[in-house]
Amino acid sequence: PRRIYGERDNSYGLDLSNEHTLAQLQAHMQSACNIEFDIASLTAVAVNHQSPHSVLNPSDHRDVVGQVSFIDAGSVGEVISTSIAAQNTWQQVPAATRAAMLRRFADLMEEPSRMALLMMITVREAGKTLPNAIAEIREAIDFCRYYADETERLNLSTPVGTVVAISPWNFPLAIFVGEVVSALATGNTVVAKPAEQTSLIAHLAVSWLYEAGVPTDVLQLVLGAGDVGAALTSDNRINGVIFTGSTEVAKRINSLLAARDDNPVLIAETGGMNAMIVDSTALPEQVCLDVLSSAFDSAGQRCSALRILCIQEDIADHVVEMIKGAMDELVVDNPAFLATDVGPVIDAEAQENLLSHINTLKQIAPYHEVAIKSDAPNATFVAPILFELKDLSQLKKEVFGPVLHVVRFAAHELNDLIDQINKKGYALTHGIHSRIDSTIEQITDRIEAGNVYINRNIVGAVVGVQPFGGHAMSGTGPKAGGPFYLQRLSRIHRWDTPV
Ligand code: GLU
Repeated sequence: PRRIYGERDNSYGLDLSNEHTLAQLQAHMQSACNIEFDIASLTAVAVNHQSPHSVLNPSDHRDVVGQVSFIDAGSVGEVISTSIAAQNTWQQVPAATRAAMLRRFADLMEEPSRMALLMMITVREAGKTLPNAIAEIREAIDFCRYYADETERLNLSTPVGTVVAISPWNFPLAIFVGEVVSALATGNTVVAKPAEQTSLIAHLAVSWLYEAGVPTDVLQLVLGAGDVGAALTSDNRINGVIFTGSTEVAKRINSLLAARDDNPVLIAETGGMNAMIVDSTALPEQVCLDVLSSAFDSAGQRCSALRILCIQEDIADHVVEMIKGAMDELVVDNPAFLATDVGPVIDAEAQENLLSHINTLKQIAPYHEVAIKSDAPNATFVAPILFELKDLSQLKKEVFGPVLHVVRFAAHELNDLIDQINKKGYALTHGIHSRIDSTIEQITDRIEAGNVYINRNIVGAVVGVQPFGGHAMSGTGPKAGGPFYLQRLSRIHRWDTPV
């Protein structure tokens, strides 16, 4: 029987509202901090490094999280040569042996002191809240066990070869690990390039993958900015790219790969202008909770996050008032504090982009904004804000942060509303709140979205239960954490096992 990966307690056995638990957690984190974490010795690919720079905590720049040195973009060719040389031996390794390495890595991440270390770095490097950090680690573990089981079940014949895995800062462990282990599971060699902002946690994960038995030439980590990613994806010898990030960069990679004769594989997971449609039969209290978590959890920095809330006009005054009241209860502060609901955005550039959108919209739309509690110097907080728009034409592009746009609709405008959402060109997540089955059907049939969530929030897809990904401007598919992912990373010329 298949294992169900979603049936698990997100809090990882810790009751975060309990003071006693907090003391235990702090003790864990304390002991984890004593683990030697020397980024220089962890640097796997030490070719032509540029000088190291400090990674600063986005909640408080006085906190130096660690040191990172970036590789010189001109040196990536050497790294790819190493991967290519390792390919033949690695693909002879039986699937069960590769799967065992992934399971061992998952077990390592589950050890309490290592988990505490991962939590500490996720909070301080990526600005994630503690509950988000726990969910992130769980998801990384789920990816390992899911893809380990899948590769054994499918028994795929031939890997595509050397795969470049480029991952984002918003899920610095889960998506990084998901990309890397899916490619390793299927017998590919991997060059991993995490987002420059979250190099430390990626570094730690790779060192533990080595500890779990993955050879150092089979998985290589290169740390760097966009120029390094560009150098990797322009190397004609790579056989595939797994990319999670912006639609714009995915398009660039796509055209690079398309210009080649040998059709390298591309898996891209990109953005979304995700909406939720709430009709007048919806339960207001539930809507309120689900809107808050969908729009403001992770400071809105999820591809899956809610950007456009569409409320039927009959209930709009009441529900919007409730949402504003609930927003006022959000604690926007350093995520190391358990009371914090919303942490910082990732860096000053993200903050500036968001503030520019917010300031423009403030000129034309009524809004409701939350106060920021933190007064730490140079912190990159953005206050959660709700805008009431006249119509969807006032929102031009994806806004990656804690900004919620509300529009009202009349019952007879439903199909037109769905068409307007579809016209934005993305197709990632969508939410429906209604107690009428035929309305739910109508929206589900017409909406373009990879994941449709009904009467719940629209974030936090669970590996193996809600495979995650979209189409159109939101990505190429196949969905991560789902049964078709590993096939995309294989050449299938023999089919022993039914899907
Ligand atoms: N899988 C995440 C979720 O369901 C989103 C991933 C992303 O932001 O790329 O919330």
